[in-house]
Amino acid sequence: MGQNERTGRCVVAVDGPSGSGKSTVSRRLAVGLGARYLDTGAMYRALTWAVLRSGVDQADAAAVAKVAGEVDLRIGTDPQGYGVTVDGVDVAKEIRGPEVTGAVSAVAAVPAVRELLVARQRQVIEHAGRIVVEGRDIGSVVAPDADLKVYLTASEAARAQRRSVEDAADVAATAADLARRDRLDSTRKVNPLQQAPDAVELDTTELGIDEVVARLHALLSERGVA
Ligand code: C5P
Repeated sequence: MGQNERTGRCVVAVDGPSGSGKSTVSRRLAVGLGARYLDTGAMYRALTWAVLRSGVDQADAAAVAKVAGEVDLRIGTDPQGYGVTVDGVDVAKEIRGPEVTGAVSAVAAVPAVRELLVARQRQVIEHAGRIVVEGRDIGSVVAPDADLKVYLTASEAARAQRRSVEDAADVAATAADLARRDRLDSTRKVNPLQQAPDAVELDTTELGIDEVVARLHALLSERGVA
């Protein structure tokens, strides 16, 4: 049994583009490990909701940064169901809507927004100790010392299919939106979506969720951390 097994620290970083299976895999893995779970995409989405509510121009980085610094953003870490609030307002539903999805990549590209949220994410990780964290820059920036880094991929068609089912939206429109967000997320100057050099890459196109989660449990036990 590894030193960290059962009760000790165990940080798993799960990165990848939209629709690669990150959320489902991360939540299941966290439940299996008895760990907390942090959806960093939900944090960027909640802040985007606050920016839209404030009426400031999304392209005005200074104004966006000001909103980011003023709002009270809270997110839970229960993998079986977590709440997200902005200034006490439950935004769990709104942050999945088309307005937020359309604006989030621009807001997430503002350096001050990333600085603020990365610092918050590190606090949550530090406090939790055992946690699965999903996002775009977790293995590369937020938790470079994670016990396991995973980079999930899937074909564009599979990703669009999954997201369109989740969002009850048209597959072609979803595919176009994913391509647009992937391009913005991969090309932004600060902390772009990228695979950490020491991340394990898993293509989920043909793999079932159970298989992916089982592989991750096996990798963690090989490393003696869970
Ligand atoms: O994961 P999800 O699709 O909910 O993320 C929404 C957006 O938040 C991404 O398209 C990306 O612009 C941003 N994001 C980010 N860094 C993270 C997580 C999400 O920039 N760690």
